[in-house]
Amino acid sequence: MGSIQSDVVNIARKIRLSGVSKAGGNVSAFKDGIIYITPSGKDLLDINESDIVVIESNEDITEKKPSREWQIHKSVYESNKINQFIVHVHSPYATAISCCRIDIPPFHFMVAAFGGDTINCSQYATFGSKELSENTVTALGNRKACLLANHGAIITGETAEEVYSLTVELEELCKAYSISNTFGKPVLLSKKEMEESIILLSK
Ligand SMILES: [Zn+2]
Repeated sequence: MGSIQSDVVNIARKIRLSGVSKAGGNVSAFKDGIIYITPSGKDLLDINESDIVVIESNEDITEKKPSREWQIHKSVYESNKINQFIVHVHSPYATAISCCRIDIPPFHFMVAAFGGDTINCSQYATFGSKELSENTVTALGNRKACLLANHGAIITGETAEEVYSLTVELEELCKAYSISNTFGKPVLLSKKEMEESIILLSK
């Protein structure tokens, strides 16, 4: 089994190589009270294990500079102890929807994979601010992902595999939602239909 740093590096590289997000973004893991996060100012594709920045619970940070969005990661880990991995991306379709400040409605059963019948969009706040991290926690609730207004998306997962697959899934859903809006108004699934999907997807 690889180190937690290698998990972060692998997720970061897969996100770039898959093409889901070509610019911006950061990745972290949380273990034994410590956050391991990608550094500021380096492309996710070029990151090595030695670049990963360690943030202790007292906010002691190694000599390296963490991602500017590290506050969001810290607040999300503090609010939900189940998820051990976080991805933040500026992927184009999720970002486009975030700019309209729309909660993604139950237009497709895979919205349920994120733990509810919507994927919510946060209130706007400046990147890197404490306010944005608070707004993110509110929009996320007990879901696996949310959009950040006029910015991008945050995705969480219990494992490295889950956070990566949900990152790809969210962008695909946002793309499908955008396209379906060009054909008309998508027909939304009912509360009961979404509840059935949530039960099936959580098995
Ligand atoms: Zn960002």
